[in-house]
Formats: sequence, C-alpha cells, structure tokens
Amino acid sequence: MKNFDLETLVRPNILALHPYSSARDEFTGDEGIFLDANENPFGERNRYPDPHQRLLKKALSERKQIPVESIFIGNGSDEVIDLIYRIFCEPQRDRVIICPPTYGMYEVSANINNVEVIRVPLNDQFQLDIDKILSFDAQCIFVCSPNNPTGNSLQNVERLLREFRGIVVVDEDYIDFSAGDSFLKKLKEYPNLVVMQTFSKAWGLAGARVGVAYASSPIIAFMDKTKPPYNVSALNQEEALKALSHPAEFERELSIILEQRSLLERELKDLPIVHHLYPSDANFLLVEVTDANKIYQYLVDKKVIVRNRNSVVRNCLRITVGTPEENRKLLDELKKVEK
Ligand SMILES: *Cc1c(COP(=O)(O)O)cnc(C)c1O
Repeated sequence: MKNFDLETLVRPNILALHPYSSARDEFTGDEGIFLDANENPFGERNRYPDPHQRLLKKALSERKQIPVESIFIGNGSDEVIDLIYRIFCEPQRDRVIICPPTYGMYEVSANINNVEVIRVPLNDQFQLDIDKILSFDAQCIFVCSPNNPTGNSLQNVERLLREFRGIVVVDEDYIDFSAGDSFLKKLKEYPNLVVMQTFSKAWGLAGARVGVAYASSPIIAFMDKTKPPYNVSALNQEEALKALSHPAEFERELSIILEQRSLLERELKDLPIVHHLYPSDANFLLVEVTDANKIYQYLVDKKVIVRNRNSVVRNCLRITVGTPEENRKLLDELKKVEK
C-alpha cells in the first residue's frame, strides 16, 4: 500500500476506455414495451439479464455488510482472475507474483494474458515468504487463503497489504470452511486489496458459475467497465440469489461437510499408507501417501476419483470431502490398499 495510487497501476488502455453502453444501461425501468435490445419478443428466457446484477449485489451486500459499490460479480472466480490481468497487467511488460503450490489458474491466466510470472514458493510450512516477495517489483500478487491444494490459511497477508506496492488479490474461495477471519473486514483499510469469493464451493453452485470480487469502489468501477456487458446469465443470477435466500440450507450442508472433514482426518491418519495429513481449513484434505500415483490409479479403478497432486506436492493426493456415504466408500477402499 506504499504510496498507493490506483491509476498508475491501471493499464493506459483501460484508463482511457469508453465502455460499451447496453440497451439495459440506457433504459433501466422494468415496465414498458421493450424494442431496444433486438430480443425475440416471445419466450421465458428472451430478455438479457441485468448487466449490473442489482438484486444479487443487494443480497450479498446485506449478508456481507459490504456496500454494493464494492461488489463485482463475475462468471466464476476464474473470470475475476482474468479481469485482474486485463486491468492491471500490460502484456509483455508487467509481472505478477504467484506463490506455489497454489491454484493453477493464476499462472494459466497470466500466460493467456502474456504476463510474466514470478514464482515465490511457499515455505515448508506452506506460508508466504514475505521478504522474498517484497524484493520483487510486480503489478499484482495472488494469494489463496485457505490455500488450494494445501488447505491451510496464510499468515502475514496483512504485512503484504501494507508493504507491497501493487494489487493484492486474496482468493477466499474456501473461506466458508475456515474458522478464521475473512479479509473483507480489511477492505476499508487497504485500497490495494481485492478479496475473491465464490458460489462454487460451500454454496454448492459450481455448475452456475458465479464468482465475486470485493474491493474499493474505484477498483470495482474498473472491473465493471472492463467486463462483457451481460457477463452473468439470468439463470446464474437467479440460482445465486436463491441460494442466498436459503441460509439454513447452506448452514446445514456446511456443518455436515465440516463434521465429515473431521471424520476423514481421524480415519485417514491411522491408515498405514498415509504418511502425513495436512491440517485443512477447506473442504478438502491434502494427504501424503506412500505412492500417490499408485493409490490414485487404484482408486480410479474403484470409481473413486481424487486429485493426484504428486506433480506439485510429492506423493500427495487432494481429497474433497464428499457425502457421508462417499467418504465411507473412500475409506473402505483405502483400507484395502496394501502398503
Ligand atoms: C475452485 C477455485 C476457483 C475457481 O472458482 P470459480 O468461481 O468456480 O471459477 C478459484 N480459486 C480457487 C482457489 C479455487 O479453488
């Protein structure tokens, strides 16, 4: 946040951009005869969605106690990641810092946008190497807390917010599974902070594609002007709104998942094939086993699919917490594996 000046971080073409103004921007009432958007006048799904997702933002604003001007809704968090690059990182000039092992799309999206990646690996505790990070000059950094695939929450992110000169994106897609605090509380304090959350994990809507970014209103305004006009479909918006209006269902599922996470932790720990079980603040467990490739394939043959992370953390499988029946089947199969 040192001498933070947002406009110097934004790409010149985005600063100068005159955004597309849609028919639904120019007339925003909901009564009338709509002959302004070249829609088919017949049908149930014939109308373009609200480009500003007003109802969804209002519901999120109430739940999170964040003003609507600080909320951006994307077509999944993956669209938010892409937008960050398009707004802040000039291709073939600017750089981004990524702290592996972490979510793979930060780097893929940098490659798509032709932005140079500086990798500063997490230390052996899977924590940030802040001094190393601060020794580089970059436009932005992605940190994931709780982190995918390691499952732990990151400490010292706040030092990054204070001392890093660029945009700090804190990916909180797993925050609902964590007892720790969200960085949403720090938005007012740090104008360089972008917090990402999603409907894909705890909210059970991975199929709908709804991701959210929270940031200062000037950052959100840049995201709004850079996104495609109707980026979030009406179906997506409605599903997310429906989920938010059933908080008891959300809490019920969440508590089952957390209970099941504890059960998996207890039972996996005692298996002879398990070398190490990493503590998790998310809805998955990173498990170091005797031979990840072998056990992964063994499980596939039993029609139990986990994520083989051997290539990123040696001999580790990432196992998502499933239903009680699914977890039972997983454990039963793992108990049969010979050491
Ligand atoms: C799943 C995941 C995403 C993608 O979320 P979508 O909202 O489904 O695009 C982003 N970041 C992390 C860390 C994830 O695990």
